[in-house]
Amino acid sequence: MTELLFQNGIVYTLEGPRQVDVLVSDGVITRVGPGLGRSGQTIDCSGLYLLPGAVDVHVHSRDPGFPEKEDFASLTQAAAAGGVTVVVDMPNTVPAVDGAGVLEAKAALARSKAHVDFGLWGLIRSSTQPDELDEMAAAGAVGFKAYLAYSFSISRKQVLYSPGSDDPDLEPPADYGTLARLAPAVARLGLPLAIHAEDPTVLAAFRRPVLTYDDLLASRPPEAEAVAVSAAAAVAKQSGAHLHIAHLSSARGLQAAEDAIRGGVALTLETCPQFLLLTAQDFGRVGSAMKMLPPIRTVADRDALVDGLLRGVIGVVSTDHAPHTDAEKSQQLEHAPAGSPGVQTLYLSCLQLAKDLGDVWLAPRWVCSAPAALVGLEESKGAIEPGFDADIVLIDPKGKTQVRAEHMRSRQRHAALEGKEFDFAIKAVYLRGEALTAAAGPRGRMVRPAMALR
Ligand SMILES: [Zn+2]
Repeated sequence: MTELLFQNGIVYTLEGPRQVDVLVSDGVITRVGPGLGRSGQTIDCSGLYLLPGAVDVHVHSRDPGFPEKEDFASLTQAAAAGGVTVVVDMPNTVPAVDGAGVLEAKAALARSKAHVDFGLWGLIRSSTQPDELDEMAAAGAVGFKAYLAYSFSISRKQVLYSPGSDDPDLEPPADYGTLARLAPAVARLGLPLAIHAEDPTVLAAFRRPVLTYDDLLASRPPEAEAVAVSAAAAVAKQSGAHLHIAHLSSARGLQAAEDAIRGGVALTLETCPQFLLLTAQDFGRVGSAMKMLPPIRTVADRDALVDGLLRGVIGVVSTDHAPHTDAEKSQQLEHAPAGSPGVQTLYLSCLQLAKDLGDVWLAPRWVCSAPAALVGLEESKGAIEPGFDADIVLIDPKGKTQVRAEHMRSRQRHAALEGKEFDFAIKAVYLRGEALTAAAGPRGRMVRPAMALR
């Protein structure tokens, strides 16, 4: 049995921060308490925060499909460097994860490269059948994702960032009818149904050339988010399905979600560091690196999202980590693809935001316990408690970190948060009791929701 003792750290526990020791045996936390004594290897954590590894439920590995943008190795090395010990990958890789066979093949590929643990979302297409959801759940899907504004190329097996056309190769996007049809099956499985919440009819009404950042904002109005949230909530309500809103970006979307929650819909909300730390006013400084969809909006939207986090209405902060190549992202706004790497800066972004809001200990809730619960890992990940995996991040609260392209481990080096400074530094990251070092090989495992197929 391998034992590891973390001594004298300030440990984030479910009861709050405590100066206690943490004993780890064979990769699992076995005891948390004062004076656990010397046993096996000891790590002195004096002056350091000892936090759970983060769970990022919204990443795009690009693997398989676009290895020039990212793959499971570069994604999970970036995650490891940022204290994220579980990444949950979205299903719009190529081929898209629309069935159990594709999910199993992707899991095997990820297992061969992953430096941290990983989970996989399954895709809901407008043609998806309930038995396909059952099969993906049995293969380990943490939940399902529907892209309401994006069609599906049948020949390329790819989610396309276009609302569709008369082309017979383009299957129309999943719509509210799809959600209504499949919500009972999702509810029966007990898994979350995540949506990209932009209503395609609202987007169509506001379509325009995007030459300036104001054009981008005008082409993706917050009404698109609010309508998608309300309509999805309306069709999911009777089924009892757990609806999860990915990358919430606007005050209007938040209001629609709160109305739905008050109306009894089982609904959770996720937002992202870029929506909490940046606003449209940053475009002059950051440029196309901050182009994403939905877009980074106004100061009022940012303030509403921060307020939603503080009130606990928004539970999860994940990244929508979506790298491209630096060459693609350096194009003019009109041509640059949407998305930015973010997994490496998730933890420090949230610690800084929480500190600035007056309670640094909010951050582990946003990036550890709430996302772990979303994907059914609340009994093994996201907390420093006996029985949990020893996924541990040591943070120096007197350190300094600046987001700089040369330190980024993703293929895309230049992120939307480039230049941001944090009053914290990551000193070490452990995955199931073993230090994650640059030289370590891939030993990530696939995680599966504990409550699936109950
Ligand atoms: Zn995404």
